[in-house]
Formats: sequence, structure tokens, C-alpha cells
Amino acid sequence: MALPAEFVQRVLRELGAEEGAALCAALDGVPPVSVRLNGAKCGNAEELLCALGAAQPVPWCADGWYLAERPQFTFDPAFHAGAYYVQEASSQFVGLLAGDAAGRRILDLCAAPGGKTTLYASLAGPQGLVVANEIDRRRAQVLADNVRKWGTGNVAVTCCEPRALGDLEAWFDVVAVDAPCSGEGMFRKDMGAREEWSENNVRLCAARQDGILREAWRALKPGGRLIYSTCTFNREEDEGTLERMLAWAGDEVAEAPAPATDEVWGIVCGRVGAFRTYRFYPHKACGEGFFAAVACKAPDAEGRMKTPKACRTVFGQIDKAAAAELSRWVLRPEQMRFASVAGTLYGWPAAQADAVRQLSEVLPVICSGVAMGQVFKGRLRPEPALAFYAELDRGALPVAEVSREEALDYLRRGDMRPDALTEGLNLICTQGRALGFAKRIDRRVNNMYPSALRILKQ
Ligand code: SAM
Repeated sequence: MALPAEFVQRVLRELGAEEGAALCAALDGVPPVSVRLNGAKCGNAEELLCALGAAQPVPWCADGWYLAERPQFTFDPAFHAGAYYVQEASSQFVGLLAGDAAGRRILDLCAAPGGKTTLYASLAGPQGLVVANEIDRRRAQVLADNVRKWGTGNVAVTCCEPRALGDLEAWFDVVAVDAPCSGEGMFRKDMGAREEWSENNVRLCAARQDGILREAWRALKPGGRLIYSTCTFNREEDEGTLERMLAWAGDEVAEAPAPATDEVWGIVCGRVGAFRTYRFYPHKACGEGFFAAVACKAPDAEGRMKTPKACRTVFGQIDKAAAAELSRWVLRPEQMRFASVAGTLYGWPAAQADAVRQLSEVLPVICSGVAMGQVFKGRLRPEPALAFYAELDRGALPVAEVSREEALDYLRRGDMRPDALTEGLNLICTQGRALGFAKRIDRRVNNMYPSALRILKQ
């Protein structure tokens, strides 16, 4: 499908004939493929990069790599183990805008399917918390699956209108709005984006972005950072959205420290008031079309932290015996809090456990921390999410290291060779990366990989 005619006319008018034509030609080219490694559990990174055919690093993201060509990710067990995330390179730039995010409380307001959420989760670390919100129920489930697989344990996934998050006033050190947009930057990767594009949709998206930014601003604490991004080129949804925000937020918007960038990266840097802006054009930078901006909320801006009144109790206390059993399954139990939620036992990194509890009392939280399982007769029956947790203590159960082919059978929920397993519960690993649990009872193996995640492709 050809690029929309009105879009082509606009870029030729705004960028000039030569540059406009270069952009349109790039949009008809082949997109680069890139991944971002999961430092908490990628195992031997060199081997993994070699297996993926990594060609060169993404210059603006420490864990980002371009691949020489697109592998079949579906048939790579490391992909299913959450050892890396397939993420377009330009989007990885938001990590730089977050600054020193370790220990911070980050709100990712438009989060599914979770590319940026998993990046923020790695940056926030065990002392930090990422609240990843997605308005669309179905997409929120995909987000939750990806978060569980990433295995950092420091994310809470919510499914709400942005306003519900705005009501957590001045709660967050960083608020990221990766706004729903007209998707012009995706014209190379996704023909559907060309089909759905219209001038009218640009206007609708711009109006929606204005509403989302108002809520984002309420949730941000004075001194905190706002990161705004889209995957579109038009001014109305990019600089225009920031200009409209400046008209109501005024002096409350202050400059954020500038991340160091290099001219050779091909990013077009600019300013809109106190916002620093970054444009990624596919004919200049190696990635898809992307726009990002960052600013701070002035430290003396209005805004005291406010939490809506709790409407329910969610975390139930657990007894000492259950806590002792859970402690056996994690590497640093003293740095975790355990509680039960709707009959399942969970663990959270202690630093933010109270924040997650408060959040759960006012918002619909789909998943948070690590779902660990249920204790029967003193023994844990683990949830699949526990296998993905980077801090799982592998001394808690036998580890069955299987071949790549056996791993793929496991991921299809196929039959498994009993000889590969010890009697009872096993952690199924391949190249040291955990995929899930299976139970051997004599010559029978119960494959416990979740049906919803299984590989369907043959
Ligand atoms: N940040 C995601 C990532 O990196 O994987 C991509 C987010 S995508 C660009 C924008 C998301 O905003 C979509 O998942 C969409 O469902 C959601 N969305 C749509 N309308 C919304 C609204 N009115 N308020 C908040 N989010 C909305």
C-alpha cells in the first residue's frame, strides 16, 4: 500500500522537496530489527547476542542491539524466558530521558504491550516501582504477560482511564506518556498504520493526548520528570501537544537535565518552552519514526501527595509457616514482603510493597510483584510467574536442563521425556534460562506451562 497522499504532501511541504522525498523513500525501505536484553536474566549475554545475530549496539541504550536480520523469535526459547524484548530502537531512547531511575516511582500511563514498561522496570531496579497502566482490557492482559516474563517483580499493572491514575496526585517521580497517536512513524513496519491514517484521526489523537497529559501532570510530584512520546511525525501531536500543555501548565513546567546525545546518532534535537524534544526520522536515525520530549515539574509547583480513600482491603496477612515456605523460594527473602491476594500468595520487593498495597486498595490492579502460588500441607504449589522471577532461588527445587528442541516441546505444552526430570516438581531450563514448571510422577510428566502462553505455530 502506498503512503497516504495527504501525508506525502505534508512532509514535502514541511521538510522541503529533498528531505521529504528522503523520508518517504526510507518509509518504503526495510526496517532494522532490534532487541533489548534483560540484564537481570539474559544469562551469558555474549552467547545470546551471537545466537541472535547481533550486529551492533543501539547507541542510546546500554542493553539495545540491532540484529543483522529478523530471526523467528517464536522458536527461540530465550525469547520465551524473557531474556530479551523485541523493541524498535528509537523507542529505547526514553530510557535516557528517565535519568537516574534507580529506586524511583515511575508511572507508565499508556503501557501495553510493555516495551517501555520493561525498560523502566530494569532501570528502576528492586528499590523502585513501575505502575504500568493500559486502558484496553485485552491489551492490559498482554502487558501483564510481558511484565511477568520480564521477571523483575517491581511492576504493578493497572487497567484504568488515565483519570484514575491522575487521582494519585503527586505520587510519581517520573510519569511517561507514550501516547496513542496516528502512527506515521510506523508506516514502514506496519501497513495497517497507513490504512488507518487520516487527517481526522490526527486531530482526534491530538485532542486525546491533551486529556492524557492533564492527568499525567496531576500524578507527577513537584521536581519529577514528564516524558512524552509518540510514534508520529506531525506537529499537531508532537510539538503542538506540548505547546497546548504549556498554555495551561505555564511556569510549572521546568527544564530537565539534558541527556548527552551524539550528532552521529542522527536525532533532531529541539525545544518547546522548557521541553527538550527529540525527533527520530528513519532517513537520519537507525530506527522507526519517533518523537520524545522531557521536562520537569518545577520543584515549587503546587501539589501535595494525595491518595484517594481506600475502598477495599486487598492484602491479607499470611502465617509464619507460609512465610517461611515462601522465603525458601527467593534469593533475598529479607528484602521482600509476602501477603495473600484473592487466595494466591504474592511477594513484593519490600521498598515499594506498601505503595503497591495502597494502590491496590484504590485501583484495579491486574498483577503486581510476583505471584508465588498457594501453600498446601506446608509446600508451595508455584504459579507460572515464579519461574520467570529473576530472584527465584533455584535451590528450592530440582532444575531440569533440557535441549532447545525439548524446550520448544515444553513451550508447546507437548509431552516431555520423564528421564530428563527428577521425581516431583522441576524447574524447566534451557541454557540456564527458566521457562516454567513441570511435575514428574513416575513415568508421567505434567507440563505446567500456561495454555495461554503456549506456542501455536508449528
Ligand atoms: N508504551 C507502549 C510500549 O512501549 O509498548 C506502547 C503504547 S501505545 C503507543 C499507546 C497505548 O495507549 C495503547 O496501548 C492504547 O490502547 C492506549 N490508549 C488508547 N487510548 C487511550 C486513552 N484514552 N488513554 C490512555 N491510553 C490510551
